[in-house]
Amino acid sequence: MHRARTLVRKALPRRLHAPATTLLLRTAAVALRGNRVECACCGGRFRRFLAYPSLFCPRCGSYERHRALCLWLDRNPGFSSPPLRLLHVAPERALEPVLRRSGVDYVSIDIEYALAMHRMDVTKMTFEDGSFDRVVAVHVLQDVPDLEAALREIHRVLRPDGCAILQLPMEFDDGFDETARAAGFLVDRQFVAADAARNGLEPRESFLLARPASDARA
Ligand SMILES: [Zn+2]
Repeated sequence: MHRARTLVRKALPRRLHAPATTLLLRTAAVALRGNRVECACCGGRFRRFLAYPSLFCPRCGSYERHRALCLWLDRNPGFSSPPLRLLHVAPERALEPVLRRSGVDYVSIDIEYALAMHRMDVTKMTFEDGSFDRVVAVHVLQDVPDLEAALREIHRVLRPDGCAILQLPMEFDDGFDETARAAGFLVDRQFVAADAARNGLEPRESFLLARPASDARA
């Protein structure tokens, strides 16, 4: 898939890269139809996931981390059951429809991604204190120059009884629990037990369920 995409990028003008990639993925989704693996985000079943570069769903664009989170959301429906206001930081194409499908009041921000609802820096959000019941920030905070400031801001915009899903890539994850605690969160590390081969998961992957500590003390 990587090679095909590289060829497309060399052979076609820039404006055609996105539609050509979409066409490639649709073709791959049809060519790979089967029942050996299953995507927890879109429900697609295939002979295998694409190596793009890790296990990639040709239908919805999910990676291992997205499918693990979708499995967790299925098992913990209270996280995204309305009425709730949910902030998605740096929205991902595979996760957004899953987070929205229950009918929560969904808001997304990104510092540059044009498809986010608001262009906003996670370290300087313009939302009022306690604006959200839920925050989801997956594989984005490692790119923020001031991680502590981002965590303090997420804590600020969360309601006292709210909670956040926070995940860094594994290579950035050392010490993240302590950093989140220092920003005022109680953290509970979540692993998703499932058939890793069938669901296309990275078994060592985990994320933090983070709640404002003041609420937990109450
Ligand atoms: Zn999928």
